[in-house]
Amino acid sequence: MFDSQTGFKEALENKATFPEDKEESFDVLLEWVHMDNVREWGGKSDIFALYALGDKLCLPDFQDTVIDRIRTYHRENKKLQTFKGIGAEYNAAPPGSGLRLYLLRSILYSLKLKEMIEGGDSKGDFGFKVDDLEEALLESEDLRKDFLRGVRGYVISRLDLKNPSQGDDCEYHCHDREGPCSREKRSFLTS
Ligand SMILES: [Zn+2]
Repeated sequence: MFDSQTGFKEALENKATFPEDKEESFDVLLEWVHMDNVREWGGKSDIFALYALGDKLCLPDFQDTVIDRIRTYHRENKKLQTFKGIGAEYNAAPPGSGLRLYLLRSILYSLKLKEMIEGGDSKGDFGFKVDDLEEALLESEDLRKDFLRGVRGYVISRLDLKNPSQGDDCEYHCHDREGPCSREKRSFLTS
């Protein structure tokens, strides 16, 4: 399983441990291997741990399936990623990943929503509080920098901010923009 020449503990013991990953994450991963599907997701943050697990195990196709699941959930339920806890989620997502891009664009898009409120309690399902965003920006240095770059980019380009749950899936996938899509590869393998 591992090259013992590397001297890593995993190689010497020929096993790896993932103490931060829940058993259920591996169940979902096995289901994906056999059925090319990531089970229904009810908006729980565990879906972000799945994405990180895929990165750890070098499974970009799995990561693409996870980000597709997140965006589909938001799109079909007319929801957006809320600000609560988004700093920790950004820190846990791999740098340069489609998940980070999605979280960042979700924040930028939310800035123009009427549901975004200054302090106080959020109403209903909406969690777009300035206080929560401030907390997230304080929690994640990477998010803070990317957010400022993103705001600057939109100010300079004057582009209209689009809902990130809509549009081209491949913008958030791990493969090269010119390369074949992981979803096409999977459907070829399972057909
Ligand atoms: Zn793709």
